[in-house]
Amino acid sequence: MADYDVIVIGAGLGGITTGALCAKNGFRTLILEQSDLIGGCCSTYERDGYKFDVGASIVEILHPMEKVFELLGKRREDYIDLIPCDPIYSFITEDGRKFSYPTDIDETTKIIESIAPEDVEGWKKFSNMGLKMIDEMMEAVMLSPLNSIPEAMAVGMKNPQVLKFMPTLLRTHQGVVRKFYKNPVIQSSVAFQSYFAGAPPEIGSGIFGFIALSEHLGIYYPRGGMIGIPKGIADAGQEFGLEIRLNSKVERILVENRTAIGVELEDGTQIRSRMVVSNINAKVAYLKMIGPDHLPSWAVKAMDSYRISMPCPMIYVGLDCKPDLDAHHTVVTGSIDAMNKVWNDFYTKGIIPKTAMSLICWPTEADPSLAPEGHHILNFLCNAPAPYAPLGDNWDRLKESYKEDAIKELETYVLPDVRDHITIMDISTPLDFERRLLSPQGSIYGLFSDITSLALLRPHPRSRAIKNFYLTGSSTHLGGGVPTTLASGVITNGYIMKDHG
Ligand SMILES: Cc1cc2nc3c(=O)[nH]c(=O)nc-3n(C[C@H](O)[C@H](O)[C@H](O)COP(=O)(O)OP(=O)(O)OC[C@H]3O[C@@H](n4cnc5c(N)ncnc54)[C@H](O)[C@@H]3O)c2cc1C
Repeated sequence: MADYDVIVIGAGLGGITTGALCAKNGFRTLILEQSDLIGGCCSTYERDGYKFDVGASIVEILHPMEKVFELLGKRREDYIDLIPCDPIYSFITEDGRKFSYPTDIDETTKIIESIAPEDVEGWKKFSNMGLKMIDEMMEAVMLSPLNSIPEAMAVGMKNPQVLKFMPTLLRTHQGVVRKFYKNPVIQSSVAFQSYFAGAPPEIGSGIFGFIALSEHLGIYYPRGGMIGIPKGIADAGQEFGLEIRLNSKVERILVENRTAIGVELEDGTQIRSRMVVSNINAKVAYLKMIGPDHLPSWAVKAMDSYRISMPCPMIYVGLDCKPDLDAHHTVVTGSIDAMNKVWNDFYTKGIIPKTAMSLICWPTEADPSLAPEGHHILNFLCNAPAPYAPLGDNWDRLKESYKEDAIKELETYVLPDVRDHITIMDISTPLDFERRLLSPQGSIYGLFSDITSLALLRPHPRSRAIKNFYLTGSSTHLGGGVPTTLASGVITNGYIMKDHG
């Protein structure tokens, strides 16, 4: 007899969401997490009185989170306290110009007008069309399974209004940006989302143009740090009997007759279950934990063909003073062409960028309780992303020089005497991410996401190769991100209910 109905491997956002919903639906559910924290990339660790976010720094598009709590029959506000952040972003451009985009659309229009009057019309056109599209597509597309041609057709037939947006969505990110804006400063201020999400504007999906716009509906920071999101969902799930075991590394997925029957832990313990859900990188789950011997050859070939998403070093800084910043996020931007070039250099040649994009996140602006009184935190993606295998070197050797580069950037953009105010500084290189989260090559979004690897082109949440085996999180549709992995948890739960409910 099975010990559990459902075992979830990994307590990332997708795993916690699927696990909590399974528990709510009456399944005896166990989540096994190899580290000592829940949340994976969306987590917060404590050091010397500072609370640093491991990766994700903000949440926008609240629809999937609200849906998770609706399905749990709980009020989100009772579990997660979201603090609105306004302005959305502050920018520092190549020519030293500084400006911020507020949430308010009319106020943003004024900012755009002051920089590039020629782009006001494009902005108005794009925001009118885009906000309508976001509204109409949220439930229809974001929370619907789109993992096969029949499913995609069903969604299209049920929601014919979304089809008119397809020509825009099928463009690249830079295609959407250049269609609506002429000025290079404005272009770069709305073209960086795909870059930080793992694909430069020239190959990133046009959807990222709308993600930038969706931030005008509000961006939020959970009180207590980003771990507040998985913790809130886990707390709600535990009220339905959800069990979470930390420091429990899964080594193997047990398979008999092409059916998942449980897992084996690092220490050899076997736990049997009716279903297994993987929240880890799909390549690792299929090729290492199940293994090619248990898979049909087409599945091995398909898994081999997926590329791993990018890695991204993070620097965590504690300061004994207030930084000279204007917003929760400050983006040091380059032009679209610079983003494409830098990305190609690091991805294909292993060159660590020197003049790329940086993202400085200032979480104590929203929640001062994250640091000792009067102190502040900066979570810093310095010249990011960067290669897993830097040309002719490795990250353990580069750590100190990378930290030094980061301090120089902070001197330029945040405080000239920042060095005298740093009380603590940690770095998580791609190698550290690999060790901390067991994410292959330190990848931060599971599998690579460009326009050729979205929706039904990603691994299916209900395995076609192994019965009773499911995927959730960034390796599957809709890819990496906080709202997207929450949505993926909802979608995977839908398949489980269809099969076993
Ligand atoms: C630097 C960085 C910045 C980001 N910024 C943002 C942002 O601002 N906004 C946004 O929306 N998104 C952002 N993201 C992306 C977002 O955080 C992730 O896409 C999302 O949290 C991933 O969720 P997931 O469900 O795929 O699980 P993951 O976070 O990948 O978690 C997987 C879990 O599985 C565990 N695990 C791995 N192997 C095993 C094993 N063998 N046994 C047991 N457990 C195992 C890991 O320890 C981990 O806890 C960022 C990510 C990073 C790293």
